[in-house]
Amino acid sequence: MKRTAIFRDDLFISHDPGYSHPESPERTKTIFSALDELSGKNHFLEPSFAKVEKNTLLLNHSNNLIRTVMATAGEKYSALDPDTLTSARSYDAACLAVGALNKGVDLLFQNKADNCFALVRPPGHHAERGRCMGFCLFNNVALAARYALKTYGIQRVLIVDWDVHHGNGTQNSFYDTDKVMYMSIHQSPLYPGTGAFHEMGVDKGAGYTVNIPLPGGQGDIEYANIFNTLVKEIGSQYEPELIIISAGFDAYHADAISTMRLTHSGYAYMTRVLMEMADEFCGGKVLVSLEGGYNLTGLKEGVFAVLSELSGRSLDTEFLSDLSPELAEVLRSEQKTHPAIERVREVAKKYWKM
Ligand SMILES: [Zn+2]
Repeated sequence: MKRTAIFRDDLFISHDPGYSHPESPERTKTIFSALDELSGKNHFLEPSFAKVEKNTLLLNHSNNLIRTVMATAGEKYSALDPDTLTSARSYDAACLAVGALNKGVDLLFQNKADNCFALVRPPGHHAERGRCMGFCLFNNVALAARYALKTYGIQRVLIVDWDVHHGNGTQNSFYDTDKVMYMSIHQSPLYPGTGAFHEMGVDKGAGYTVNIPLPGGQGDIEYANIFNTLVKEIGSQYEPELIIISAGFDAYHADAISTMRLTHSGYAYMTRVLMEMADEFCGGKVLVSLEGGYNLTGLKEGVFAVLSELSGRSLDTEFLSDLSPELAEVLRSEQKTHPAIERVREVAKKYWKM
C-alpha cells in the first residue's frame, strides 16, 4: 500500500465563475462528497497546506498578471477573458491551489508521502506567464515544477498532461529548457489551438516538449497504446526525478467538451504506466493535479480510478467497475500502431532513440 496524500479544501468550492459555467464549484463538491462516503475506508493522508505568497507566484508569472488576479479579491464578479471569470474568493482559492501542489512536492522529497493528488480548482495548464485564460488563473503544475527545481535542486521534471486540451501555458513556461519535459496528449483541433507535432521546444529545450495531438474518437485502447510506446520510450530516456500529471478528465466519453471516448479504465491505465516509470527513476514520486473534466460522473470515476492506482488499494467498486474488457485485452495483445505514434516518432527521432 502506498502513502497517498490528497489535498482538498472547501475554498476550492468557493471559486465560482458563475451560473452555467462548465468549470463549476460542483466539480470539486462532487469529488469531496464521494471521498466523504469512503468514511472508515479512507486511508489517505490529508495534510494541512497553506496559500502561497506573491513571491512564489513570481517563479512563473509576471507581476502584472499577479496584480490583475489579486485585484479580483473581494469582487463578486470579474472577467479576465471571455471564458475566465472569478468571484470574491477566486484569488484565495488560486493561491491555495498552488500551495497544495508545493506542499505535495515537499511531502514527496521529504519522504512523508509516496504520491499525491491535489484536488484543486481553479485549474492551471492554460495560464501563461502574463495571461490568464481557459478557466485558469495561475499555472499550478508549472509553479510546482519551478518550486521543485528551486527547492530540491533537481534537474529533470516530467510533466505529462492528459487533459483533452493542450496545456499552452505549461508548454510555454518550459519551451527553452531541458529541466522540465512537457508531454501532452490532446484532441486537435480543439481549444486553444496549440500543440502541433512539430512544436518540440527551442534552444536548450529542443526535444523537451512532446506533443501528441489526436483526432476525436480515441478511447482507452488508443491512449494505452500511446502510453505503452511514446510516453514510455521518451519518458524513460529523460529519467525524470519527479513526475507531475496534469490530470484533466474531459476526454471522458460522456464529456460534452470533447469527442474522446476514455473511460475510468483508461485513466487507471495511464496512471499505472507513469507510476511504473516513477518507480524506476524517482522512487515513485508522482504528483497529480486536477485540471479539467466537466461531466460530473466522468470526473468522479476518473479521479477515483487514479486514486485507486496511486494508493495501490482497490477503492470501493460503488465508484468503479473493473478495467474494461477491451483494455484488459490490449494489455495482453501486441501493440497496435496508431498514425499519431508514427508522426511523433518521425519528429522526435532527431532528439530521442525511437
Ligand atoms: Zn481541458
